[in-house]
Amino acid sequence: MSELVESIRERYLFTLDKIAGAARSVGRSPESVKLVVVTKTQTLEVVQAAIEAGVTILGENYPEEGVRKIQSLTGNSAVEWHMIGHVQSRKAGLVAQHFNLMHSLDSLKLANRLDRFCEEAGRTLPVLLEINVGGEESKSGWPGWDETRWPDLLDDVNGLLALPHLELRGLMAMPPLGETAEFSRPFFQRLRRLQEFLMKQFPQAKWSELSMGTSMDYEAAVQEGATLVRVGTAIVGPRQYKTEV
Ligand SMILES: *Cc1c(COP(=O)(O)O)cnc(C)c1O
Repeated sequence: MSELVESIRERYLFTLDKIAGAARSVGRSPESVKLVVVTKTQTLEVVQAAIEAGVTILGENYPEEGVRKIQSLTGNSAVEWHMIGHVQSRKAGLVAQHFNLMHSLDSLKLANRLDRFCEEAGRTLPVLLEINVGGEESKSGWPGWDETRWPDLLDDVNGLLALPHLELRGLMAMPPLGETAEFSRPFFQRLRRLQEFLMKQFPQAKWSELSMGTSMDYEAAVQEGATLVRVGTAIVGPRQYKTEV
C-alpha cells in the first residue's frame, strides 16, 4: 500500500469509527449512515488512492471535473459517484448521464432539465432537495429557514413528484459556516423537522435520506439523523485549488 493510500485509509476508518460512535450515542445503527468522501479539486491520484483505501462513495461538486474522473476510473464499477455542488442548467446532461445520486437539486427548472436528459439516457436519477436552512443569500436551495413558510414549498414538490425520471429520496443542507459543530446542530434539527413536515404532506414519496454534516460537524449531523455525511478535508486533506485535474 502506498503512503497516500495508507494515510487516506487511516483517516477513512477513523471517520467511520466516529460515525458509528455518534450513531450509537443516539440509539441508531451505524449501518444507517453512509459516508460520502468529497474529492472536489483533488487529483485523480488522490481519488484513485481513496478507492484503493476502500472508499465506496465519492462526492464531486463540478460536473465536468467529476465526469473526467468517472471516465478515467471506469474499472471501479463498485464505486458510486454523487453530485453535491450547484449545477447550472446547461450542465444537467452530464449529471443525468454519469452520477448515481444528486444531493444538490436546487430548482424546479434544473429538475425539468435533468428529467429530460434522464429520459434521453434511459435512466432514473435519485435526487435530494437542497434546502437553504440558514437564509444566506450565497447559498442555493429551496428556502427553508422560516418554518412558517414551509407550505410555500409544496407546489414545487408537487412539480418534482410529477417528473417520471427523477426519484425523490430526501433532503440535503449545508448550514452557515460556524466555528463549532454545536453551531450547526440547530440547522440539522431544522432539516429533520422539514423532512417530517414533507413526510406528512407527501406520504407517498420517499423522504428517508438526510444529507448533512461535513468534516467539522458530521458527528452532530449523525446524532440529528443524517443518513449521508459528506466529508472531504478530514479524509483526503486540504483542497488542491491550483492543480489541474
Ligand atoms: C466541499 C463540500 C463538502 C466537504 O467539506 P469538508 O469541509 O472538506 O469536509 C461537503 N458538502 C459540500 C456541499 C461541499 O461543497
